Amino acid sequence: MANINDPFGNALKQLAEIKALLNLDEAVYEQLKEPKRLVRVAIPVKMDNGQTKVFIGYRSQFNDARGPFKGGIRFHPDVNESEVKALSAWMTWKTAVVNLPLGGGKGGVIVNPKELSAGELERLSRGYIRALYQVLGDRIDIPAPDVYTNSQIMAWMLDEYEKIVGHHEPGMITGKPLALGGSAGRGEATARGGVYVLEEAALKIGLDKNATVAIMGFGNAGGTMAKLLSADGYKIVAVSDSSGAIYDANGLAVADLLKQKSEGKKLIDLGQRVDNILAVEADILIPAALENSITIDNVNLIKAKLVLELANGPITPEADKILAEKNILVVPDILANAGGVAVSYFEQVQNASNYYWSEAEVNDKLKKLMKESFDLAWLEKERYQTTMRMGVYALAIERVAVAMKNRS
Ligand code: NAD
Repeated sequence: MANINDPFGNALKQLAEIKALLNLDEAVYEQLKEPKRLVRVAIPVKMDNGQTKVFIGYRSQFNDARGPFKGGIRFHPDVNESEVKALSAWMTWKTAVVNLPLGGGKGGVIVNPKELSAGELERLSRGYIRALYQVLGDRIDIPAPDVYTNSQIMAWMLDEYEKIVGHHEPGMITGKPLALGGSAGRGEATARGGVYVLEEAALKIGLDKNATVAIMGFGNAGGTMAKLLSADGYKIVAVSDSSGAIYDANGLAVADLLKQKSEGKKLIDLGQRVDNILAVEADILIPAALENSITIDNVNLIKAKLVLELANGPITPEADKILAEKNILVVPDILANAGGVAVSYFEQVQNASNYYWSEAEVNDKLKKLMKESFDLAWLEKERYQTTMRMGVYALAIERVAVAMKNRS
């Protein structure tokens, strides 16, 4: 059984499965069972009331055989060592599956940022860098935004880092504001990458743009996905957020929904409510909310032929087995949502050359990368006669293993 309280234990179980499938080299396997470096820091922050509070932060640098460590920084009360290690392992597979010359890392701070003032949040962000700058850098480890961190936090972090090292180094962090060297297209990149992969997956099972789509989660990832897919001609029949789900067999007016939501209206007041988005008639289901939203208790409601994991880890391993038995094609998170890290890499390339691309150029390069990665992962799935999830993991871990072997 997977243990949702021990994500790293789960990551190790996935690795053991892949080891058996690929007959992975023993020395490589042993090294992939622990992060190369795990740093735990205490960050003192002067609060607005004059008192000093100490926050605990982490950086897990899992593997850098293919290039510098890369991965976001999460500010969340539930951050813990097992989670940050697991996320850093998954980042290693994610950068490898889309063939970026990068490794995998992840960071986090145990904090509820909603309880901090803007000044406290800035001091915490700068404190994180002061505690860790020696193990960061554009050729060492490159952070980015994750849950509850954003481009403003990246800007503070970059500024603190550059003040300490005494030179400009925009490529030491990605997801920056455009004015500080961010990339055009970064904001929509996760969803856009998801669209490119979805087009390929849909073709494989005979679906076209007449397919109907249900999207669970209407935030950055899910809302943007709904916008892009409906602009492309797909019929979005259901969407949901934490308030509930709405449905229209004729297709929802997504642009209106996004506008009304941004004006503070509740999603469930904007259409016909349904009890559970998983149960609606739709060809394609896109989980884009939280992890573990599809479990053994609700997986049998799903009627879709294709599930695209835009969220990280939305399906528990037990539910995933049932989807596989039912022959429902699941495109796993480390491929489906890799568009974000791919454009982060493009951001670094632009920083290194100090020359910036148009959004159309970014999107073209992203399209090529995502489609090629999908095709190669599909070949692995066929080669090993396995699921798409295992095909994607096989492609990624083989690439990491080759780089490790080349170095040994
Ligand atoms: P977000 O906070 O902007 O949106 C989350 C959405 O999920 C919100 O609309 C929220 O109301 C909804 N939600 C929460 N509980 C729900 C429930 N029980 N049922 C239905 N909806 C529910 O977050 P996001 O950035 O869109 O991230 C969503 C997922 O995508 C996460 O797993 C994240 O790790 C993953 N992801 C996001 C990006 C990105 O660039 N934004 C990149 C890679 C992966």
